Amino acid sequence: MNYDVIVAGGGPVGCAVARDIAAAGYRVLVLEEHLEIGAPVQCAGLISNRALEISRVPSTVVLNQLKGAVVYAPGKSILELEGKKVYALAVDRLAFDRSLAEQARAAGAEIRCDMRAVKFAYVPEGILVEAKNRAGESGFFSGRLLIGADGHNSVVARWLGIPRPLEKISLYAAEVWWPEQNSRMAHIFLDRDLAPGWFGWIFPAGHNRARVGIGYSPLVAEGRSASPRLLFNQLKDKYPLLFREMKVLQNTGGTIPIGFLRQTYAAHVMLVGDAAAHLKPVSGGGLFFGLKAGEHCADTAIKALQAQNFTPKFLSTYQKKWEAAIGQEVSCGLKLRELFLKMKNEDIEFLLGFFNKSLWRKLILKYGDLDYHSRLAARLATALPWFGRFLTDGLRSLTQEK
Ligand SMILES: Cc1cc2nc3c(=O)[nH]c(=O)nc-3n(C[C@H](O)[C@H](O)[C@H](O)COP(=O)(O)OP(=O)(O)OC[C@H]3O[C@@H](n4cnc5c(N)ncnc54)[C@H](O)[C@@H]3O)c2cc1C
Repeated sequence: MNYDVIVAGGGPVGCAVARDIAAAGYRVLVLEEHLEIGAPVQCAGLISNRALEISRVPSTVVLNQLKGAVVYAPGKSILELEGKKVYALAVDRLAFDRSLAEQARAAGAEIRCDMRAVKFAYVPEGILVEAKNRAGESGFFSGRLLIGADGHNSVVARWLGIPRPLEKISLYAAEVWWPEQNSRMAHIFLDRDLAPGWFGWIFPAGHNRARVGIGYSPLVAEGRSASPRLLFNQLKDKYPLLFREMKVLQNTGGTIPIGFLRQTYAAHVMLVGDAAAHLKPVSGGGLFFGLKAGEHCADTAIKALQAQNFTPKFLSTYQKKWEAAIGQEVSCGLKLRELFLKMKNEDIEFLLGFFNKSLWRKLILKYGDLDYHSRLAARLATALPWFGRFLTDGLRSLTQEK
């Protein structure tokens, strides 16, 4: 075997896992299809302080600190939530990814860019990976373990025939010039027609810049062939004052996989990060959950290498560990999402109007957490019995309350 571990995908999660396994003294190779790590950026770069901490990326990547959000209902209701603490950090995602790659290299991992993993085969004692560069030249690498950190369209998962998440959100996103308004507040736009099954956003990134975007779920777009770009133009038209002076500097798109994968391992293989749908179903944030699951992936890999045991049974401890760490949160997020998908515009209008009272705003600001959405949901369910029923029975109780 050339390597102990081959990581397909040099995104933030793949590099973090590679770093931890290499630091334990094993030979690790990361294969990344792009010419350089981190580019092109396909992320709004909003993370919590705890996500930054577990990434071990220095705080120099932080561009802005957000202290709240303005949430726009489809009609007139607006819920303004401005707190004193920092709820989210806008980071330089390119620098974030590069730092993780540097950490992996410093720990001894080898990173090869312009190497797309294309074929896999079981060989005695491990896996053989064929990777191709842009010139069409192949390289062959063998490892005892293969880690699929190759994003939402994971070729590793497809090779194994592991069922993929049922829902994939299509996004338009851009980095824009946005002359300073209140740079501490995010803006979230909810509207079933404008962003079917998702939302629009403006996240100020400081220095007169912002990240903007919108998404939709093909599952609820009801046959309409929505183009996220078109939806973004409609969003701009709807809020001319907010978008008036905005100029797009760089645009991108992307996909967010939503679901709960019940099997993220096979003989000699583990999946992690977006490849394993380790994202928050409500917001699509994937860095915290991916890095959190990545810690367990690296830990299981090290134990498997020590025991020289790469059987599905041995590697299933990885599934148990990541489920114990974030599984409950993913399940709660899926439940909240199921409700969100059932809501009509009038339901969104009602909820935002209802919570726009000092008491509720304070409670939301106290328990709102970028990573653990269940904490606020649980508090609201305790404080408001009808909201608790709303979470358990769906929209029936909301209709009764109205
Ligand atoms: C528009 C947008 C906005 C987002 N905003 C946020 C946000 O604000 N906060 C947040 O936490 N999350 C956000 N996310 C999600 C976040 O970007 C991902 O969850 C995160 O990047 C997951 O990291 P990863 O390493 O698992 O996967 P990725 O970042 O997707 O990395 C996978 C890597 O694998 C490489 N690769 C793929 N296939 C192969 C192959 N066959 N061979 C070799 N290399 C391969 C890719 O080039 C890529 O570099 C956003 C996503 C999108 C699309």
